[in-house]
Amino acid sequence: MSPIHIALVGVGKIARDQHLPSIEKTPDFKLIAAASRHGTVDDIPNYKSIEDMLEAVPEIEAVSLCMPPQHRYEAAHKALSAGKHVFLEKPPGATLSEVEDLQALAAEKGLSLFASWHSRYAPAVEAAKTFLASTTMRSMKVIWKEDVRHWHPNQEWIWQAGGLGVFDPGINALSIVTHILPRPVFITKATLEFPENRDAPIAADIKFTDAAGLDLSAEFDWRQTGKQSWDIIAETDAGRMVLSEGGAKLSVDGTLKHDEPEQEYPMLYRRFAEIIKAGRSDVDIAPLRHVADAFMLGRRKFVDAFYD
Ligand code: NAP
Repeated sequence: MSPIHIALVGVGKIARDQHLPSIEKTPDFKLIAAASRHGTVDDIPNYKSIEDMLEAVPEIEAVSLCMPPQHRYEAAHKALSAGKHVFLEKPPGATLSEVEDLQALAAEKGLSLFASWHSRYAPAVEAAKTFLASTTMRSMKVIWKEDVRHWHPNQEWIWQAGGLGVFDPGINALSIVTHILPRPVFITKATLEFPENRDAPIAADIKFTDAAGLDLSAEFDWRQTGKQSWDIIAETDAGRMVLSEGGAKLSVDGTLKHDEPEQEYPMLYRRFAEIIKAGRSDVDIAPLRHVADAFMLGRRKFVDAFYD
């Protein structure tokens, strides 16, 4: 089968670090154009806007949208309206309703919409899900603490309303948690810390439970210098499970059970090709719903101003 002609929109950090090399490696896709106000991709036609690109290159069959979430809906709507399959970077949008709107449009047009959650494809995530399904869990603690100055230098959008602040990495943890837990959970309490000069939180402390009274907590913090933590720790009847390094490694009672090289973005593109071929969409909004709930229920605390 000939490769699906794909275009990239929003040529920034994640497009360069992951999308370009992953598309290159995936025989299912051929990159034929890009649209970005400033960024460009070598050896293909580049356009300043998605409208110009869609008009000039009718052979495009699918687009990957890599711009900040506040601007994703408009581009996705244009692409779906023009008959293209759409890959949404995470988070899939700035609100739940706009993602549902895109889902309905994709269904109406018979196109595939993919709300990608790259962390779900981290190497040890499926093994963690299988382990948790085989035992009884008493509690789970999520610790997602990183240095925003290192990972998001000068990214203004991330601090603006809709940019999610510390939930930009935190939603990766939530995408794993919602995938590996045997039952759905819901937030009971949250505290969000906002720098006094920003519209998005720098830290969040969240408590969840489920119908059976599970004790689940999450600590997200962007002020972590030194060792970075992307860990999920579960106390279970079969021992202490630690899913560490953002889902890369799994250990139980200190014994390493799973440690393989990561392939998150190549796997996302394989999944996108799979749903296009199957004529379906893959849109799970559970991680974004928890973020919305945290904003709805959470206490606000104002902390020191943040400057890059
Ligand atoms: P980024 O480098 O700041 O932004 C991506 C590109 O989007 C920018 O270079 C810019 O290109 C375009 N853009 C910025 N503002 C725009 C606007 N107002 N309208 C249209 N386009 C705009 O951010 P990123 O780190 O790549 O993140 C983009 C998305 O990927 C986010 O949703 C993020 O959560 C997700 N993501 C990022 C990472 C990571 O490690 N950085 C990892 C996984 C997922 P032009 O100026 O050329 O238009």
